[in-house]
Amino acid sequence: PTFDTMGLREDLLRGIYAYGFEKPSAIQQRAIKQIIKGRDVIAQSQSGTGKTATFCVSVLQCLDIQVRETQALILAPTRELAGQIQKVLLALGDYMNVQCHSCIGGTNVGEDIRKLDYGQHVVAGTPGRVFDMIRRRSLRTRAIKMLVLDEADEMLNKGFKEQIYDVYRYLPPATQVCLIIKRYSAVDWLTEKMREANFTVSSM
Ligand code: AMP
Repeated sequence: PTFDTMGLREDLLRGIYAYGFEKPSAIQQRAIKQIIKGRDVIAQSQSGTGKTATFCVSVLQCLDIQVRETQALILAPTRELAGQIQKVLLALGDYMNVQCHSCIGGTNVGEDIRKLDYGQHVVAGTPGRVFDMIRRRSLRTRAIKMLVLDEADEMLNKGFKEQIYDVYRYLPPATQVCLIIKRYSAVDWLTEKMREANFTVSSM
């Protein structure tokens, strides 16, 4: 299996190889294909298996770079993780002219507003600050087509459920949802929604 045969755009492939990846990991082989088809996906696998690149490649593949609006939103449980995701997006998207911003607590709100006004294709952030930006109408949600919940089980354990739901309610009804989890944890509205929908489970 290679990245070449996955139907990815040329500028993204270039970024993937320039980043040093030679071939997709198991989770990447199984999940990217489904996510880029537009399916709701639960991708379950342990740390270190290439989960971050799985959803970053998928998000980048789905962007229309000409449209300078936020098209994908990635929520993560910690500021550090949101920052790492932004770095991976920028590295893999190095040949795509992609604008990515990380929206995290503890940083200057005015700077977030300025960056968002400029136009960001992807926003990666922690639920509280992301919701704050949505409520202020700085982060406009009308063009969002994909929501990724990274370490979704961890976010639920940390009590982010209400904040995630606050964000979710502002997204267009057709938004594709990807849950990235380490373990299947207690069923709640998120996994419930995924069960009701036509979802795919990728694990390794
Ligand atoms: P993660 O599971 O997202 O924490 O990724 C673990 C590590 O694997 C990171 O250092 C990635 O850069 C690396 N990695 C992810 N995908 C690949 C790949 N296809 N080939 C080589 N390394 C990878």
